[in-house]
Amino acid sequence: IGNSGDIKFKNITFSYPEAQAPALERVNFALKPGHFNVLFGPSGCGKSTILKLVAGLLEPTAGAAIVGGREVGAIGSHAKRLGLAFQNPTMLPWLSILDNVMIPLKIVEPFRQDYRRKRKGEFRERAEALLEQVGLAGFGNKRPWQLSGGMLQRASLCRALVHEPDILLLDEPFGALDQFTREELWDTMQDLWINRRPTVLLVTHDLRESAYLASRICVMSSRPGRIIEDQRVTFARPRTLESSYQPDFTSLVQSLRMSIAEARARLIQMDRRR
Ligand code: ADP
Ligand code: MG
Repeated sequence: IGNSGDIKFKNITFSYPEAQAPALERVNFALKPGHFNVLFGPSGCGKSTILKLVAGLLEPTAGAAIVGGREVGAIGSHAKRLGLAFQNPTMLPWLSILDNVMIPLKIVEPFRQDYRRKRKGEFRERAEALLEQVGLAGFGNKRPWQLSGGMLQRASLCRALVHEPDILLLDEPFGALDQFTREELWDTMQDLWINRRPTVLLVTHDLRESAYLASRICVMSSRPGRIIEDQRVTFARPRTLESSYQPDFTSLVQSLRMSIAEARARLIQMDRRR
């Protein structure tokens, strides 16, 4: 794979303009290509800010983000290497699902030129194959409003992967779904990752989701956002719902819960002393 899927944070501090305290303070980590990394933590701890720094949508106040061996920002756009999906799958309502999935190929260089020249048919086949893989065969010509929330999120994962990015950034993509649909999507996500092996950075505040999907979990605390724990998850794959009720799985979930509870208790104490 080379190092194109590497993500490194060197001592990053980030403050939003006019904010009283930094959103992130001295954050360091190095993510290896092809791993499934989870950023887990309570609301407001800076998870989305980290994703935006990786994507180059924000610039660090201090420190550096290095993606694929080069500093973000210094390299111009690295959009071709990134796939993105968010909690709200924002499809364009007047385009078919297939055309929505192909959007990155129509706007991101160098795919954009290829799309217009010669590879339209090949790209279409690629998008159709992805839809089939996530259980949406035959839905390519439907409009977004004809699909359920879970189906839209599946399509949004296809869109994030259609240009075969090295890095997949996912910001609470399953957060708005009901429990059953969410658990189905975990399996879909796991299959997609096993087949392609992008470097994933998944943001979530769901404990079971973290343990189910991750090869590594970075636990964050807030004010300022910091990584307080960094844990490998070595359960065999593919993981299944049954395996998520085994003792080793539930004890990992329990220990994550404790880390967060302790971090919150420390914050409450700090607030009392003020
Ligand atoms: P998370 O994704 O973990 O919920 P965020 O990264 O969105 O957290 O936000 C981290 C902190 O920065 C929060 O305290 C939030 O209120 C603050 N923040 C986020 N976006 C902005 C912004 N545009 N301007 C000012 N503060 C912001
Ligand atoms: Mg967020």
